[in-house]
Amino acid sequence: MKRSFALLVFVFALLLSSITSAANFPTEEPMGGEPFGHSVKNMGNGLYVFRWWVYRNIFMVTDEGVIVTDPMNPKAAKLLLGEIRKITDKPVKYVVYSHNHHDHISGGKVFKDQGAKFIAHKNVLKELADHPSAATPLPDITFEKEYTVRLGGRALELKYFGPNHGDSLVVMRLPKEKILFIVDIVTPRRVAFRGMPDFWPDEWVRSLKEIEQMDFDYVISGHGPVNQPAIDPATVVAEQRIYLEDLMTAVKAEFNKGTHSPDKLRQVVKLPKYKNWQYYDEWLPMNIERIWAYYHMGW
Ligand SMILES: [Zn+2]
Repeated sequence: MKRSFALLVFVFALLLSSITSAANFPTEEPMGGEPFGHSVKNMGNGLYVFRWWVYRNIFMVTDEGVIVTDPMNPKAAKLLLGEIRKITDKPVKYVVYSHNHHDHISGGKVFKDQGAKFIAHKNVLKELADHPSAATPLPDITFEKEYTVRLGGRALELKYFGPNHGDSLVVMRLPKEKILFIVDIVTPRRVAFRGMPDFWPDEWVRSLKEIEQMDFDYVISGHGPVNQPAIDPATVVAEQRIYLEDLMTAVKAEFNKGTHSPDKLRQVVKLPKYKNWQYYDEWLPMNIERIWAYYHMGW
């Protein structure tokens, strides 16, 4: 009896340790952070842009409480809460996830502890079941295509465009100000991120074309260095799409000439039109290799 109890304890401990290790994504102690600083930009009418390192989110302060988006990671979320407390003592009522990636949505526990409700596209639940993180509370409210968060007379519209960067990304719109908050699929004046992790090139282009049809004048993007303006004109969405189309056209043209080696493609494909964009020299070859994989593997 004693032995079987000991065995049970052992099995339970083993189970617990496997759960703990699965939950230990590095976002618990994120890279970057403190040395890169954080800042808050007041956009007026209760809208703020919070920046931590190269990550950004928006939050909205209303008479009835606060709507927060993308808590980023435990370190950034604590800083964000501190900044919100300088502005209002109203509770954070809602936290909206832009998509499933841990580098954007970890750290929400400080808001969960205050009773905030978490909102995300329904596929975020599936993704977090497959890749759980102790730092990332599961969404309480999920939706399929569209959802509007309402609080204190303000509205934040959420819209899903199908797969593009993962398959759970939502674009957020402030209908009154005609501002979009777009994470990862639009980063103004910068080539695509490194090897384009979890980006699906053709679906990305399709989504951007659909987003261009929305009613909006401005874009706040989920990434930006310290010196980037907090807000950009609507044209940055088309600029991002045209960059991707130019990249794909250039790789395909070289591919059609018989250059099938990704190493060779990285050397010969150039897009001088974008030479002033951020990370042109460093990341363009990685972008090219991702598009090579798209044409080579259909992925
Ligand atoms: Zn992402």
